[in-house]
Amino acid sequence: MKIAILALQGAFEEHQKMLACLGVDSFLVRNLNDWNQPKDALVIPGGESTAMLRIMNDEHLFEPLRCAIMDGLPVMGTCAGMILLAKNVENDSRERLATMDITVLRNAYGRQLGSFYVDGNVEGVGENLPMTFIRAPYIMSVGDGVEVLAVVDGKIVAARQKSQLVCSFHPELTDDLRIHQFFLSMVE
Ligand code: GLN
Repeated sequence: MKIAILALQGAFEEHQKMLACLGVDSFLVRNLNDWNQPKDALVIPGGESTAMLRIMNDEHLFEPLRCAIMDGLPVMGTCAGMILLAKNVENDSRERLATMDITVLRNAYGRQLGSFYVDGNVEGVGENLPMTFIRAPYIMSVGDGVEVLAVVDGKIVAARQKSQLVCSFHPELTDDLRIHQFFLSMVE
């Protein structure tokens, strides 16, 4: 198995380390050449969605990524990654991948006080997972066919639609491998 990690900006190295801990090969995607390598899944990290979208546009990555995801390539998006995958973003109208039927609010917890940590349960993954939120989005609503996997303080923070998995928090910034393991089970 080989996983592509979008590495335009943000916490891509941390995802690569998590996957290595699980014995899974990955490679970083910075341009179309990188992207054209064979892959079994894609990870889109947390970071700054504004910067990622700008570079994706410059590198002509929108169409090929969107097509691959629509064709069923499994994808996991964390935080900014979730924003890139959302069909609707309440407070941002820029072009994005828009492959997942969710409506997201960006910087939903406020810009300054937006970073916090809780332990929470994720359906099908486990209990008391460490959840680190950094200027995070949350999911305001989901469409048919989207499964809600985690709710914190009444807000949806993880969801799945077929082979697409998103979370508001950063599993890659903890040493808990369960979210990545869960994603790999979706890939298999
Ligand atoms: N606030 C960021 C954005 O809107 C996401 C933050 C993150 O990925 N930690 O892109």
